[in-house]
Amino acid sequence: GLLSVIQRLKGSPEQELRIVLLGLDNAGKTTLLKRLASEEVSTILVCVPVQGFNIKSVHSHGLKLNVWDIGGQRSIRPYWRKIYVIDSADQKRFEETGQELAELTEEEALMGVPLLVFANKQDLGTAAPAAEIAEGLSLHTYRDREWQIQACSALSGEGVQDGMTWISSQIMNRKK
Ligand code: GDP
Repeated sequence: GLLSVIQRLKGSPEQELRIVLLGLDNAGKTTLLKRLASEEVSTILVCVPVQGFNIKSVHSHGLKLNVWDIGGQRSIRPYWRKIYVIDSADQKRFEETGQELAELTEEEALMGVPLLVFANKQDLGTAAPAAEIAEGLSLHTYRDREWQIQACSALSGEGVQDGMTWISSQIMNRKK
């Protein structure tokens, strides 16, 4: 699973590595998190919505994986990073999710942070292909960072491991 991969990469126990899953509500973050963490998870903390946010955390062996629903709360945006989940079948909200992502990547604290976009729910017939979503999000204009779009289904697990392999390679490159 993800956590064991990260633990191997992390090396020293004091070193802190944080990965945060972001996306609009209903994109599939919780489902993805459960899939990623299934074997190793010791606790899933479900916090009640605080100021419009649902925050869930998985703790395992000193690692913390946070899940955020994106609402309108700008003050905590600096903490967002790394993985962005999109409901590929919810075409009505592509514009909204694209705007949120664009604002997110303008955060100074996130400059240069690698970005993995999961185009989730690909098992649905109505899902837009990942290439179309990448174009819609103008990912090719993000030149200050490595980015990757990965078609996946958090429900079936398809594509999830490929995305995590990419994240792992990014983490390893940064350690060099
Ligand atoms: P969150 O709000 O981003 O945490 O989204 P959830 O993980 O709670 O998922 C929202 C809904 O979408 C739930 O009913 C999930 O079962 C469903 N869902 C999540 N991932 C997938 C997927 O890959 N395929 C399909 N068909 N449904 C999914």
